[in-house]
Amino acid sequence: VLCPVWAGAKTEKYTNTDFAMNTVVSETLYTTGKNLNPSVGELLKNTEENLLSWTEEDSQIAALNAAQGKTLEVSDELAGYLEKIQQLSVDSEGAFDPTIGKIIRLWDIGGENAGIPAQEELDKLLKETGYEKLELDGNKVTLKDGATLDLGAAGKGIGCDLVMDLLKNEKEVSGMILNLGGSSVMAYGEKPDQSDWRVAVKDPRDPEGEYLGAITLKGGEFLSTSGDYERYFMENGKRYHHILDPETGYPVWNGLTAVTVVCDSGIMADGLSTACFVLGKEKALPLLEKYGADALFADENHKVYLTEGMEERFELMKDTYKVQK
Ligand code: ADP
Ligand code: MG
Ligand code: MG
Repeated sequence: VLCPVWAGAKTEKYTNTDFAMNTVVSETLYTTGKNLNPSVGELLKNTEENLLSWTEEDSQIAALNAAQGKTLEVSDELAGYLEKIQQLSVDSEGAFDPTIGKIIRLWDIGGENAGIPAQEELDKLLKETGYEKLELDGNKVTLKDGATLDLGAAGKGIGCDLVMDLLKNEKEVSGMILNLGGSSVMAYGEKPDQSDWRVAVKDPRDPEGEYLGAITLKGGEFLSTSGDYERYFMENGKRYHHILDPETGYPVWNGLTAVTVVCDSGIMADGLSTACFVLGKEKALPLLEKYGADALFADENHKVYLTEGMEERFELMKDTYKVQK
C-alpha cells in the first residue's frame, strides 16, 4: 500500500531462437512468471511430429496418407483443422488444395531432387488430387482416389494457434511475439510499454536485404506471408517456386511475388496467404472479406497493393516500391 512499485512481481523479458516446424522460431515473452519459451518450442516440435508431418511415421497425417481409401478416426484437434482447411478449399474454389501432396513431392522444390517433372507424370498425379477427394464426417476421415494430404500451407499457422491457446492459460504472461521463419507470426497480449507489435515484411526480390516495410499487430492477431522467394529454383530465367496452382500442378506465375495476410486465426492467416497468392489480387479480395482479413500484395513491378484494413497497419520502408491505390 505504501509503495505500489513493490505491489506485483516484476515483468521479465525472455527472448529465444529455436528450430521447429522446419524453420527458425524466434520468441519474445513478457511475463512475471517463468520462462515459457522452452515449452513453446516443445509444443511446436510435438505438433509437427504427432500431427502434421507427412514424413514422421507417427503423425496422424502420415497415417491418413498410408490408409489410402480406408476411413480413419483422427483426434478432435485434427478433425477441427481439417474442417477449416476443407472450408477454405471450397471458398477458394480449390486454389487452396491440401490434397496436392504427391505433386509437391514430385517437384521437391527446395529439396535435393528438385526439378521440372515430366508432363505425363504430372498429368497422372493431377488425377490423384482434388479437395473433393478429402471426405470428413466428424472425426472420420477418408482420402479417396490416391489423394495425399500435405498441410504445409497451414501448419505454421496451426502452430501459432496452439501457442496462443497455451498462453491464454498462463496468467503471468502479459505478452508474446512468436515468429516462425518470418512466414507465420502470432502476437499475444501487449508489450510493457503498450506500443504495437511490429512485424517486418521482407522484400521478395531482396529477402536478406533492407525490409520492404512493417506491419503492426494487436494482441490476438496473426500474420502469414506466402512468397515465391522462400523455396525455389531458377531455370531458363524462370522461377520455379513452392506455391503451386492445383489446376496445372505448376508454380503460380501471376505477377505476384508475395502476399501477407493478417487476421484473428493462425490457421486462416496461413491458409489465406497461400490461397490468395494462387488466386491473384482480384479474386482474393472477396475471400479476404469473407474471413475478415487484411492483406498486402507485392508484385514483380515493385508495386504494393493494400486492402483498406492493411493501409492503417502498413509502413513502407523501401522507396524502390510504390503503394498502389
Ligand atoms: P510457407 O511454407 O513459407 O509457410 P505457405 O504457407 O504458402 O508458405 O506454404 C507453402 C507450402 O504449401 C508449399 O511448400 C506446399 O507444401 C504447400 N502448397 C503449395 N501450393 C499449395 C496450394 N495451392 N494449396 C495448398 N497447399 C499448397
Ligand atoms: Mg505458411
Ligand atoms: Mg500458407
